[in-house]
Order: sequence, then C-alpha cells, then structure tokens
Amino acid sequence: MYGKIKEHLQLQISQIKDAGLYKSERIITSPQSALIRLADGQEVLNFCANNYLGLSSHSAVIEGANQALESRGYGLSSVRFICGTQDIHKELEARIAKYFGTEDTILYAACFDANGGVFEPLFDENDAIISDALNHASIIDGIRLCKAVRYRFSHADMDDLEQQLIKAQAQRHRIIVTDDVFSMDGDIALMDKITALAKKYDALVMTDVCHSAGFIGKTGRGAAEYYGVHGQVDIITGTLGKAMGGGLGGFTTGPKEIIEILRQRSRPYLFSNSLSPAIVGASLAVFDLIEHHTTLRDKLMENVNYFKKHISKAGFDLKPSDSAIVALMLYDAQLSQVFASRMLQEGIYVIGFYYPVVPKDQARIRVQLSAAHEKQHLDKAIEAFIKVGKELKVI
Ligand SMILES: *Cc1c(COP(=O)(O)O)cnc(C)c1O
Repeated sequence: MYGKIKEHLQLQISQIKDAGLYKSERIITSPQSALIRLADGQEVLNFCANNYLGLSSHSAVIEGANQALESRGYGLSSVRFICGTQDIHKELEARIAKYFGTEDTILYAACFDANGGVFEPLFDENDAIISDALNHASIIDGIRLCKAVRYRFSHADMDDLEQQLIKAQAQRHRIIVTDDVFSMDGDIALMDKITALAKKYDALVMTDVCHSAGFIGKTGRGAAEYYGVHGQVDIITGTLGKAMGGGLGGFTTGPKEIIEILRQRSRPYLFSNSLSPAIVGASLAVFDLIEHHTTLRDKLMENVNYFKKHISKAGFDLKPSDSAIVALMLYDAQLSQVFASRMLQEGIYVIGFYYPVVPKDQARIRVQLSAAHEKQHLDKAIEAFIKVGKELKVI
C-alpha cells in the first residue's frame, strides 16, 4: 500500500534537493559550547547556537538538573493537571513571573506549544489579532488555530500597524503580536511605539522573547526594558531552550486571569506531558544565575560590540541591530554557502541563510554571539571572516 505515496514523497524529496533547499543536520559529539567537536573529529568554534548566555553546559545548570533528577526522578508520566505537577514546577512558574514582573506563568513543553496554545482560549471570531509579517512560525500556527479576525502589518512598520489597528476597531478585543527580537535580522521590536499604539487603539500587546530574554535590556528583560516600557506588555511567551539553559521548555507569563484560562483551556498544556524534573531543576539554576546579576548578559553584550566593531571596520555590510544576532549581508545565495563552508575549514561554524528563509537576494551569514565566547574566540572568528572575505572578494 505504501508504494504510491512512497513515489510521491521521493519526488518531493528530489524536488527539494534540486531547488537546493534540502536541510541536513551536522552531527556534534561534544556538549554544546563555544568550542564543539564534530562527528569527523574536527573542533570548531560555534557561532550559530542560541546559547546566548553560555548556559547550555554551565556547571551550575548541570548541577541543578542532577539534583532534580536525584530528588524528583526522571519523568512524570502525566500531564500537569492529572498528576504531573511537582513543587518545583510551581516554583519555576513563580520565578519566571517574578523575573518578568508579571502575575503568573504557565509552563509548556516548548515555546512552539506556548504560542500554539495562547490564542484559541482567549480570542474568538469577535476579536482581532494583529501580527507582524515576520513573526515566528509558531505564532503564525497559533493564530491559525484561532477563529479571531487576522490582520497583518508589514514588518516593524508602525504606520501600517496603526492602519490595521484602525480596521480592527470593528472587533471586540484586539491584540498586537510580535517577536521581541527577529531571528534573521536581529532587530528589536519597537516596543515603545507598539505599546503607545496599543494604548491609543485599546489593544493588548503580546511579545515572544525567545531571542531576547535574559540579555536584551539593561537587566535582560527584553525589548520592553530596552525601550523603557517594561511592565506595559500584557502577554509574554518564551523558551527555556535558548539563552535560558538551552534544554527544552516554554512558558506564557502575564495577568493571572489569562494564565488561569490557559490552564483551563490551552490544548498543548492540557494534552501534553509535563516538563521533566531535570529540565525544571536546571531552569531554576538558570534563574539563580541571571535574576540578580547581569554578569553574563554584560559579557555577551561586550562580545557583540567587540565583534561588530571589528567586522564593520573590516568593511563587511551588517544589518543594523542591537541584539546578539549579527546579520552579515552577502546578498547572493551561492556565495553565502561557499562563504560558510570556507569558514568551517577555518574552524568557525556559521550558517549562510538564503531564500526562502530570508527574502530573495538577501542572503547572509548569521552570527550569534555568546557569553561563552572568549576574546581569543572572537579574534579567531574575525580573522577568519577577513581572510575568507578577501578571498571571496566580499571586502
Ligand atoms: C525558537 C523560537 C520559538 C520556539 O521555541 P521552542 O521552545 O524551541 O519551541 C518560538 N518563537 C521564537 C521567536 C523562536 O525563536
């Protein structure tokens, strides 16, 4: 019976390959870190992980996971509301709320689930969702699962957002939804303007802090803090799988009634397993590290500034950004692939992105800095960029 669909799938696979869009995985045999070992034994400096604060293999985080594993076991074999909630899950939810200055938090298996489960319980066909055109796939999917009227505004275009808000006055409730930091350009959502428009047009604001939590803003609370409007965002979704330890897990944090309704009705919460105690223990250790100190965040931002200064001085064309993502523009898709593979030969692991991941003729190398990078790592990367850049006549 499998024969027909097998041929159909094989055809699709070869079409993906012919279009040059086939994704393959690179196998790592070491822990995630600044320096990683690949399956062929090569050791390279990693500049493409979301390990912004260098916590993926931090000793205190591993210790937190170990302790929880010892004291609370490996798995919970249950969804939260049947018998899958331990004291440490409640403790983590409270810690996340405290960190962001919100009232309550609900944990999910991933931020993909947090975004997938946030809209449908809160909004229906009487309401409006106004979404940035470049929002993450999980936000787009979450909106699709909900019956609310959809409006889309051009990326970071506040005039267009205002136009959409005017149209959305036809609905009962409105919510503006944005990524806090956009992963391909590294630009930060204009949260001062967004919250001002939300006030003017009676809308809620939701932001997804996956690429900002822990380091954007003076104390790492994200774009709202960066733009001086901390406390004015209504709903925050985020991941524990990037800067905050890099394991797994997501959350939605906000006003207590919203979180209460999500606990009653959010499907990825109701029908999916509880986070493993080890993840929860590790995440609590992450908050111990970042709650009161900005050491890691400050080191990351120093690294970002150092890297950007030297790379732009060398003549590379960078997308303007203040995040930990540096988009080094090459424009040409083929060139971005050749560039990245030459960099790997030089011991620097970076990825070249091209259409359809980024717009046509906007191919680039995306560099992600980490607090785990030391100055000598940055120097080695800068040197390699200059060498390969000259060789390929980019600079
Ligand atoms: C990575 C990411 C997600 C998904 O987070 P997971 O916890 O890995 O599911 C959601 N939104 C944004 C903006 C992201 O960058």
